[in-house]
Amino acid sequence: MDIQHVGIVGAGQMGNGIAHVFALAGFDVLLTDVSAEAMSKALSLIDKNLERQVGKGVISAEQKTEAMARIKTTTTLADLGQTDLVIEAATERETIKQAIFEDLLPHLKPTTILASNTSSISITRLGSRTDRPEKFIGFHFMNPVPVMQLVELIRGIATDEETFQACHTVVEKLGKTSATAEDFPAFIVNRILMPMINEAIYTLYEGVGSVESIDTSMKLGANHPMGPLELADFIGLDTCLAIMNVLHDGLADTKYRPCPLLTKYVEAGWLGRKTQRGFYDYRGEKPVPTR
Ligand code: NAD
Repeated sequence: MDIQHVGIVGAGQMGNGIAHVFALAGFDVLLTDVSAEAMSKALSLIDKNLERQVGKGVISAEQKTEAMARIKTTTTLADLGQTDLVIEAATERETIKQAIFEDLLPHLKPTTILASNTSSISITRLGSRTDRPEKFIGFHFMNPVPVMQLVELIRGIATDEETFQACHTVVEKLGKTSATAEDFPAFIVNRILMPMINEAIYTLYEGVGSVESIDTSMKLGANHPMGPLELADFIGLDTCLAIMNVLHDGLADTKYRPCPLLTKYVEAGWLGRKTQRGFYDYRGEKPVPTR
């Protein structure tokens, strides 16, 4: 199965990073989003991030130019019809993802592998509603995609070996490392990471520590490169809440209940860095804790 042409649905923080690494590795990329603004933002962000890599001597100016030339955008899902692999990286909501697949499927070649970058939603369930559950797989990049080495590959119950191997090879071509996860809520990384972040939010909610003391404690006391609240802002508080809900519903254990303070931030539209406010306020020169 030769994969050369890759479609990406969703041009948010993950979609732009995924387009970046595929284009740099020599794949042809077609990026789409419901928001034209998200697509133009993604292109300028990719340009800026590639330029940063040129500045650091990681890639040459020529590699950057070639990578940018390999990325095309479209507002029409049907244009993804001739791609060999489609990675869906839209908002973490099952109804949105399902609607995307429904609209996309009539246009796809029978051989196209369909993948989701979901952080937590069942790959088996998403795949079962398509015409190709055996060619459906979880292709879970970490944020920021150009920097993070890992890709979690998640097999749904029906995912066939050929699909898995083809994706395994793609991860290698991207210069990344894959870890295989079984299809249970939130897979491996977020099953472990997200309850830790949720617990940090409970620690704040219960007044055990301030935003600053919680993040400092985990950075200096547990040697984490980022504090859990800073990391939550980076991931997006809506995504964190969605993952906690999937863990809570999927594993039916109260230990996964999302902290009410997390829900409150999301209801306020304070989603972290992407909206300039979350546990920190990013509107000024330096992030300022909001509690
Ligand atoms: P985001 O909010 O930055 O971007 C989501 C994008 O999807 C937006 O640009 C939005 O316009 C677009 N979108 C919404 N509905 C759409 C539709 N019907 N068709 C096309 N595009 C549509 O979110 P993100 O952080 O990039 O997350 C995207 C996916 O990646 C989610 O499934 C998330 O769980 C997963 N993920 C996120 C992280 C992270 O740290 N943020 C890490 C790994 C995986």
